[in-house]
Amino acid sequence: MTGGCQCGRVRYEAEVEGDDAYFCHCRMCQKATGGFAAAFVQTEPGTLHWLSEPDWYQSSPIARRPFCSACGTPLGFHFADGGGKPDVTFGSLDEPSGFHPVVHAGAESLHEAFLDTRNLPRMSSSTTESVAKRWKAIGREVPD
Ligand SMILES: [Zn+2]
Ligand SMILES: [Zn+2]
Repeated sequence: MTGGCQCGRVRYEAEVEGDDAYFCHCRMCQKATGGFAAAFVQTEPGTLHWLSEPDWYQSSPIARRPFCSACGTPLGFHFADGGGKPDVTFGSLDEPSGFHPVVHAGAESLHEAFLDTRNLPRMSSSTTESVAKRWKAIGREVPD
């Protein structure tokens, strides 16, 4: 798999087995990603290679988190001792669509109201007036 940050400064490649992803709902992951949870994919040990080096934040005595200081994209979670399977953030993958979440980690901080959202109305960027009119005003199509 390949992936990287929003601005393209940080890029990585890694081997992933299967199509498992998972959520971590712990408060540190909520803070680190700004989301209701972090979504991660585990990489096989020794296979994650940074094609350009990320920045690192030591979020606790046991964890380091790669990110891009230019655009702010959270890129993963690594144990500080270098063990385990390094995580990359689901959204930073170039092709995230084939993965399926298999577990809720950090469930002590899980926000129940954000789990079952399948019946909410769905709006595309291209039909969301506040977004679409601004793209149109600069003569561009709404990006995917
Ligand atoms: Zn970036
Ligand atoms: Zn977490």
